[in-house]
Amino acid sequence: MAILTKTDQLVRAGNATWSHYLKTAVRSPAELADRLKIPVKAICGDQSCGDFPLFVPEPFLGRMEVGNINDPLLRQVLPIHQESVVQTGYTSDPLQESEYTLTSGLLKKYKSRALLMLNGTCAVHCRYCFRRHFPYPSNSKSPNWMSEALTQIKRDTSIQEVILSGGDPLSWVDGQIEQLVDHFEAIPHVCRLRIHSRLPIVIPARITERLVKRLGLSHLQVIFVVHSNHANELDHEVALACDRLKSVSTVLNQSVLLSGVNDSVESLIALSERLLEIGVMPYYLHQLDAVEGAAHFLVPVERGIELIREMRATTSGFLVPRYVQEIPGEPNKVVLA
Ligand SMILES: *Cc1c(COP(=O)(O)O)cnc(C)c1O
Ligand code: SF4
Repeated sequence: MAILTKTDQLVRAGNATWSHYLKTAVRSPAELADRLKIPVKAICGDQSCGDFPLFVPEPFLGRMEVGNINDPLLRQVLPIHQESVVQTGYTSDPLQESEYTLTSGLLKKYKSRALLMLNGTCAVHCRYCFRRHFPYPSNSKSPNWMSEALTQIKRDTSIQEVILSGGDPLSWVDGQIEQLVDHFEAIPHVCRLRIHSRLPIVIPARITERLVKRLGLSHLQVIFVVHSNHANELDHEVALACDRLKSVSTVLNQSVLLSGVNDSVESLIALSERLLEIGVMPYYLHQLDAVEGAAHFLVPVERGIELIREMRATTSGFLVPRYVQEIPGEPNKVVLA
Protein backbone atom coordinates (compact mmCIF):
# COMPACT_ATOMS: atom_id res chain seq x y z
CA MET A 1 0.00 0.00 0.00
CA ALA A 2 1.28 3.44 -0.89
CA ILE A 3 1.96 5.66 2.08
CA LEU A 4 0.17 8.97 1.80
CA THR A 5 1.81 12.12 3.07
CA LYS A 6 -0.19 14.32 5.41
CA THR A 7 -0.87 16.72 2.56
CA ASP A 8 -2.09 13.98 0.21
CA GLN A 9 -4.53 12.87 2.86
CA LEU A 10 -5.87 16.38 3.31
CA VAL A 11 -6.20 16.96 -0.40
CA ARG A 12 -8.00 13.65 -0.80
CA ALA A 13 -10.30 14.55 2.04
CA GLY A 14 -10.96 17.79 0.17
CA ASN A 15 -10.38 19.94 3.23
CA ALA A 16 -6.96 21.44 2.71
CA THR A 17 -7.73 25.08 3.37
CA TRP A 18 -5.46 27.90 2.36
CA SER A 19 -4.54 28.75 5.94
CA HIS A 20 -3.41 25.17 6.46
CA TYR A 21 -1.00 25.58 3.55
CA LEU A 22 0.38 28.77 5.09
CA LYS A 23 0.86 27.10 8.46
CA THR A 24 2.63 24.09 6.98
CA ALA A 25 4.81 25.99 4.49
CA VAL A 26 8.42 24.83 4.24
CA ARG A 27 10.65 27.25 6.14
CA SER A 28 13.85 25.30 6.54
CA PRO A 29 16.51 25.03 3.84
CA ALA A 30 17.26 21.48 4.95
CA GLU A 31 13.65 20.42 4.50
CA LEU A 32 13.44 22.05 1.09
CA ALA A 33 16.65 20.33 -0.01
CA ASP A 34 15.35 17.03 1.28
CA ARG A 35 11.98 17.35 -0.45
CA LEU A 36 13.53 18.23 -3.80
CA LYS A 37 16.55 15.94 -3.48
CA ILE A 38 19.03 18.73 -4.01
CA PRO A 39 22.26 19.24 -2.08
CA VAL A 40 21.68 21.41 0.98
CA LYS A 41 24.93 23.22 0.31
CA ALA A 42 23.27 24.81 -2.73
CA ILE A 43 21.27 26.86 -0.24
CA CYS A 44 22.54 29.45 2.17
CA GLY A 45 22.47 28.65 5.87
CA ASP A 46 19.64 29.84 8.09
CA GLN A 47 21.77 32.71 9.32
CA SER A 48 22.53 34.45 6.06
CA CYS A 49 18.91 34.50 4.89
CA GLY A 50 17.80 35.68 8.31
CA ASP A 51 16.02 38.94 7.50
CA PHE A 52 13.97 37.31 4.74
CA PRO A 53 13.63 33.63 5.57
CA LEU A 54 12.78 30.85 3.20
CA PHE A 55 9.02 30.38 2.90
CA VAL A 56 7.30 28.16 0.36
CA PRO A 57 3.95 26.44 0.75
CA GLU A 58 3.09 23.00 -0.52
CA PRO A 59 0.98 23.80 -3.59
CA PHE A 60 3.82 25.89 -5.08
CA LEU A 61 6.51 23.42 -4.00
CA GLY A 62 4.54 20.61 -5.61
CA ARG A 63 5.01 22.19 -9.05
CA MET A 64 8.81 22.04 -8.84
CA GLU A 65 10.79 19.29 -10.50
CA VAL A 66 12.50 16.98 -8.03
CA GLY A 67 16.26 16.88 -8.45
CA ASN A 68 16.47 20.00 -10.62
CA ILE A 69 18.55 22.68 -8.94
CA ASN A 70 17.77 24.97 -11.90
CA ASP A 71 14.01 24.60 -11.66
CA PRO A 72 12.51 28.01 -12.54
CA LEU A 73 10.11 27.93 -9.59
CA LEU A 74 12.77 26.81 -7.14
CA ARG A 75 15.08 29.60 -8.26
CA GLN A 76 12.47 32.19 -7.27
CA VAL A 77 12.36 31.02 -3.65
CA LEU A 78 15.84 29.63 -3.08
CA PRO A 79 18.06 31.68 -0.77
CA ILE A 80 21.57 31.37 -2.18
CA HIS A 81 24.96 32.66 -1.13
CA GLN A 82 25.01 35.29 -3.89
CA GLU A 83 22.32 37.22 -2.02
CA SER A 84 24.78 38.41 0.57
CA VAL A 85 27.28 39.77 -1.98
CA VAL A 86 27.14 43.57 -1.73
CA GLN A 87 26.45 45.26 -5.10
CA THR A 88 26.73 48.97 -5.68
CA GLY A 89 23.49 50.62 -6.76
CA TYR A 90 21.33 48.05 -4.97
CA THR A 91 19.53 49.56 -1.99
CA SER A 92 16.85 48.62 0.48
CA ASP A 93 14.30 51.20 -0.76
CA PRO A 94 14.95 51.40 -4.53
CA LEU A 95 11.57 52.96 -5.32
CA GLN A 96 11.81 55.68 -2.69
CA GLU A 97 8.28 54.82 -1.71
CA SER A 98 8.52 56.62 1.57
CA GLU A 99 8.23 59.93 -0.36
CA TYR A 100 4.74 59.10 -1.61
CA THR A 101 3.15 58.03 1.64
CA LEU A 102 -0.11 59.85 2.42
CA THR A 103 -0.53 58.11 5.70
CA SER A 104 0.83 54.89 7.16
CA GLY A 105 0.19 52.12 4.59
CA LEU A 106 -1.29 54.41 1.92
CA LEU A 107 0.79 55.41 -1.12
CA LYS A 108 -0.29 57.80 -3.81
CA LYS A 109 2.36 57.84 -6.45
CA TYR A 110 0.22 58.12 -9.58
CA LYS A 111 -2.90 60.12 -10.39
CA SER A 112 -6.38 58.70 -9.71
CA ARG A 113 -5.01 55.60 -7.96
CA ALA A 114 -4.03 54.98 -4.36
CA LEU A 115 -2.23 51.91 -3.16
CA LEU A 116 -3.15 50.50 0.21
CA MET A 117 -0.61 48.13 1.75
CA LEU A 118 -2.45 45.73 3.99
CA ASN A 119 0.51 44.06 5.71
CA GLY A 120 3.68 42.09 5.30
CA THR A 121 2.43 38.54 5.05
CA CYS A 122 3.12 36.83 1.76
CA ALA A 123 2.21 33.34 0.61
CA VAL A 124 5.74 32.79 -0.62
CA HIS A 125 9.00 34.63 -0.18
CA CYS A 126 10.26 35.67 -3.60
CA ARG A 127 13.96 36.33 -3.39
CA TYR A 128 13.83 39.13 -5.99
CA CYS A 129 11.12 41.07 -4.18
CA PHE A 130 11.67 44.81 -3.85
CA ARG A 131 9.79 44.71 -0.57
CA ARG A 132 12.16 42.20 0.98
CA HIS A 133 13.75 44.87 3.16
CA PHE A 134 10.53 46.69 3.84
CA PRO A 135 10.25 47.60 7.50
CA TYR A 136 6.78 46.14 7.86
CA PRO A 137 6.64 45.84 11.62
CA SER A 138 7.88 49.38 12.26
CA ASN A 139 6.05 50.82 9.26
CA SER A 140 2.86 49.33 10.47
CA LYS A 141 0.99 50.94 12.02
CA SER A 142 -0.96 52.57 14.73
CA PRO A 143 -4.11 50.70 15.78
CA ASN A 144 -6.22 53.15 13.82
CA TRP A 145 -4.02 53.30 10.71
CA MET A 146 -6.83 51.89 8.62
CA SER A 147 -9.36 54.50 9.63
CA GLU A 148 -6.72 57.16 8.91
CA ALA A 149 -6.13 55.66 5.47
CA LEU A 150 -9.87 55.53 4.78
CA THR A 151 -10.22 59.15 5.86
CA GLN A 152 -7.51 60.13 3.38
CA ILE A 153 -9.20 58.21 0.57
CA LYS A 154 -12.52 59.88 1.38
CA ARG A 155 -10.92 63.29 1.45
CA ASP A 156 -9.10 62.96 -1.89
CA THR A 157 -11.87 62.87 -4.48
CA SER A 158 -9.35 62.29 -7.28
CA ILE A 159 -8.92 58.70 -6.10
CA GLN A 160 -11.09 56.57 -8.39
CA GLU A 161 -9.29 53.32 -7.83
CA VAL A 162 -7.99 51.70 -4.69
CA ILE A 163 -5.26 49.14 -5.21
CA LEU A 164 -4.79 46.59 -2.46
CA SER A 165 -1.20 45.50 -2.24
CA GLY A 166 0.98 43.94 0.38
CA GLY A 167 2.65 41.87 1.37
CA ASP A 168 -0.23 39.97 -0.05
CA PRO A 169 -3.67 41.50 0.56
CA LEU A 170 -5.38 38.13 0.25
CA SER A 171 -3.54 37.01 3.38
CA TRP A 172 -6.37 38.88 5.09
CA VAL A 173 -9.26 36.55 5.79
CA ASP A 174 -12.56 36.86 3.95
CA GLY A 175 -14.32 38.65 6.80
CA GLN A 176 -11.66 41.38 6.85
CA ILE A 177 -11.76 41.79 3.07
CA GLU A 178 -15.55 42.04 3.22
CA GLN A 179 -15.33 44.86 5.76
CA LEU A 180 -12.85 46.71 3.59
CA VAL A 181 -15.06 46.36 0.54
CA ASP A 182 -17.97 47.72 2.61
CA HIS A 183 -15.87 50.80 3.39
CA PHE A 184 -14.80 51.41 -0.21
CA GLU A 185 -18.36 50.99 -1.46
CA ALA A 186 -19.42 53.82 0.82
CA ILE A 187 -16.98 56.27 -0.82
CA PRO A 188 -18.73 57.85 -3.82
CA HIS A 189 -15.64 58.66 -5.92
CA VAL A 190 -14.15 55.17 -5.62
CA CYS A 191 -15.39 53.09 -8.55
CA ARG A 192 -12.68 50.50 -9.00
CA LEU A 193 -11.03 48.03 -6.66
CA ARG A 194 -7.83 46.44 -7.82
CA ILE A 195 -6.23 43.56 -5.94
CA HIS A 196 -2.57 42.73 -6.50
CA SER A 197 -2.01 39.22 -5.21
CA ARG A 198 0.18 36.22 -5.72
CA LEU A 199 -2.07 33.98 -3.65
CA PRO A 200 -4.30 32.81 -6.55
CA ILE A 201 -1.10 31.38 -8.05
CA VAL A 202 0.69 30.14 -4.95
CA ILE A 203 -2.30 28.75 -3.03
CA PRO A 204 -5.29 28.67 -5.40
CA ALA A 205 -7.54 27.41 -2.58
CA ARG A 206 -7.41 30.99 -1.29
CA ILE A 207 -10.03 31.94 -3.87
CA THR A 208 -12.97 30.84 -1.77
CA GLU A 209 -16.61 30.82 -2.73
CA ARG A 210 -17.28 33.36 0.00
CA LEU A 211 -14.73 35.83 -1.37
CA VAL A 212 -15.96 35.48 -4.93
CA LYS A 213 -19.57 35.87 -3.85
CA ARG A 214 -18.88 39.11 -1.96
CA LEU A 215 -16.91 40.65 -4.81
CA GLY A 216 -19.64 39.65 -7.25
CA LEU A 217 -22.18 41.60 -5.20
CA SER A 218 -20.20 44.82 -5.32
CA HIS A 219 -20.96 47.76 -7.58
CA LEU A 220 -17.21 48.37 -7.68
CA GLN A 221 -15.46 47.19 -10.79
CA VAL A 222 -12.98 44.58 -9.59
CA ILE A 223 -9.64 43.91 -11.25
CA PHE A 224 -7.24 41.21 -10.09
CA VAL A 225 -3.59 41.47 -10.99
CA VAL A 226 -2.04 38.09 -10.22
CA HIS A 227 1.68 37.48 -10.29
CA SER A 228 3.20 34.57 -12.17
CA ASN A 229 6.63 34.37 -13.74
CA HIS A 230 6.65 30.97 -15.41
CA ALA A 231 4.20 28.69 -17.19
CA ASN A 232 5.02 25.84 -14.76
CA GLU A 233 3.32 27.84 -11.99
CA LEU A 234 -0.03 27.59 -13.76
CA ASP A 235 -1.40 24.14 -13.02
CA HIS A 236 -4.99 22.91 -13.10
CA GLU A 237 -5.84 24.21 -9.63
CA VAL A 238 -4.61 27.69 -10.58
CA ALA A 239 -6.73 27.54 -13.72
CA LEU A 240 -9.80 26.76 -11.59
CA ALA A 241 -9.03 29.62 -9.20
CA CYS A 242 -8.70 32.01 -12.14
CA ASP A 243 -12.05 30.77 -13.45
CA ARG A 244 -13.62 31.69 -10.13
CA LEU A 245 -12.00 35.13 -10.24
CA LYS A 246 -13.03 35.71 -13.84
CA SER A 247 -16.66 35.18 -12.91
CA VAL A 248 -16.55 38.44 -10.91
CA SER A 249 -13.57 40.43 -12.22
CA THR A 250 -11.04 41.16 -14.91
CA VAL A 251 -7.87 39.13 -14.36
CA LEU A 252 -4.47 40.37 -15.47
CA ASN A 253 -0.97 39.08 -14.80
CA GLN A 254 2.25 40.81 -13.89
CA SER A 255 5.67 39.19 -13.99
CA VAL A 256 9.20 40.19 -13.19
CA LEU A 257 11.92 39.56 -15.77
CA LEU A 258 14.29 37.23 -13.94
CA SER A 259 17.59 35.77 -15.00
CA GLY A 260 17.47 31.98 -14.93
CA VAL A 261 13.67 31.94 -14.60
CA ASN A 262 12.04 33.52 -17.65
CA ASP A 263 14.73 35.39 -19.60
CA SER A 264 14.18 33.71 -22.95
CA VAL A 265 11.67 34.32 -25.73
CA GLU A 266 10.46 30.73 -25.47
CA SER A 267 9.81 30.96 -21.77
CA LEU A 268 8.02 34.32 -22.00
CA ILE A 269 5.82 33.13 -24.87
CA ALA A 270 5.02 29.87 -23.05
CA LEU A 271 3.96 31.92 -20.02
CA SER A 272 1.74 34.23 -22.08
CA GLU A 273 0.17 31.32 -23.96
CA ARG A 274 -0.59 29.46 -20.76
CA LEU A 275 -2.04 32.62 -19.20
CA LEU A 276 -4.31 33.10 -22.19
CA GLU A 277 -5.37 29.46 -21.96
CA ILE A 278 -6.59 30.04 -18.41
CA GLY A 279 -8.19 33.36 -19.34
CA VAL A 280 -5.65 35.73 -17.82
CA MET A 281 -4.23 38.59 -19.90
CA PRO A 282 -0.51 39.45 -19.72
CA TYR A 283 -0.24 43.02 -18.38
CA TYR A 284 3.20 43.99 -17.12
CA LEU A 285 6.67 42.52 -17.31
CA HIS A 286 8.69 44.42 -14.71
CA GLN A 287 12.32 45.25 -14.92
CA LEU A 288 13.92 44.06 -11.68
CA ASP A 289 14.18 46.71 -9.00
CA ALA A 290 17.69 47.22 -7.71
CA VAL A 291 17.07 45.78 -4.28
CA GLU A 292 19.89 44.43 -2.14
CA GLY A 293 20.26 40.67 -2.44
CA ALA A 294 18.60 40.36 -5.85
CA ALA A 295 21.45 41.22 -8.22
CA HIS A 296 21.78 37.64 -9.44
CA PHE A 297 18.31 37.97 -11.02
CA LEU A 298 19.22 41.00 -13.13
CA VAL A 299 18.58 40.95 -16.86
CA PRO A 300 19.99 44.11 -18.46
CA VAL A 301 17.36 46.47 -19.88
CA GLU A 302 18.85 46.17 -23.39
CA ARG A 303 18.36 42.41 -23.27
CA GLY A 304 14.80 42.86 -21.96
CA ILE A 305 13.95 45.19 -24.84
CA GLU A 306 15.39 42.66 -27.29
CA LEU A 307 13.27 39.88 -25.75
CA ILE A 308 10.09 41.93 -26.10
CA ARG A 309 10.93 42.81 -29.71
CA GLU A 310 11.46 39.14 -30.50
CA MET A 311 8.19 38.25 -28.80
CA ARG A 312 6.34 40.86 -30.82
CA ALA A 313 7.84 39.51 -34.03
CA THR A 314 6.84 35.96 -33.12
CA THR A 315 3.43 35.93 -31.52
CA SER A 316 0.07 37.69 -31.22
CA GLY A 317 0.21 41.26 -30.01
CA PHE A 318 -2.05 40.57 -27.04
CA LEU A 319 0.43 37.98 -25.73
CA VAL A 320 3.15 40.61 -25.37
CA PRO A 321 3.18 42.31 -21.96
CA ARG A 322 4.27 45.91 -21.47
CA TYR A 323 7.86 45.89 -20.28
CA VAL A 324 7.99 48.52 -17.53
CA GLN A 325 10.23 50.02 -14.93
CA GLU A 326 9.46 52.21 -11.97
CA ILE A 327 11.57 55.30 -12.01
CA PRO A 328 11.18 57.52 -8.96
CA GLY A 329 9.72 60.90 -9.88
CA GLU A 330 8.05 59.78 -13.14
CA PRO A 331 4.26 60.31 -13.43
CA ASN A 332 3.68 56.69 -14.43
CA LYS A 333 5.52 53.43 -14.77
CA VAL A 334 7.93 53.91 -17.66
CA VAL A 335 7.29 51.63 -20.65
CA LEU A 336 10.66 50.32 -21.86
CA ALA A 337 9.21 48.29 -24.75
C1 LIG B 1 2.19 50.26 -10.15
C2 LIG B 1 1.57 51.17 -9.24
C3 LIG B 1 0.27 51.64 -9.46
C4 LIG B 1 -0.58 51.22 -10.63
O1 LIG B 1 -0.03 51.53 -11.85
P1 LIG B 1 -0.76 51.08 -13.19
O2 LIG B 1 0.16 51.55 -14.26
O3 LIG B 1 -2.10 51.74 -13.22
O4 LIG B 1 -0.89 49.59 -13.15
C5 LIG B 1 -0.26 52.54 -8.56
N1 LIG B 1 0.43 52.95 -7.47
C6 LIG B 1 1.69 52.50 -7.23
C7 LIG B 1 2.40 53.01 -6.02
C8 LIG B 1 2.29 51.59 -8.10
O5 LIG B 1 3.52 51.15 -7.83
S1 SF4 C 1 4.38 37.63 -3.13
FE1 SF4 C 1 4.80 39.65 -4.02
S2 SF4 C 1 5.17 41.03 -2.28
FE2 SF4 C 1 5.32 38.90 -1.53
S3 SF4 C 1 7.51 38.35 -1.65
FE3 SF4 C 1 6.55 37.69 -3.58
S4 SF4 C 1 6.83 39.44 -4.98
FE4 SF4 C 1 7.16 40.20 -2.90
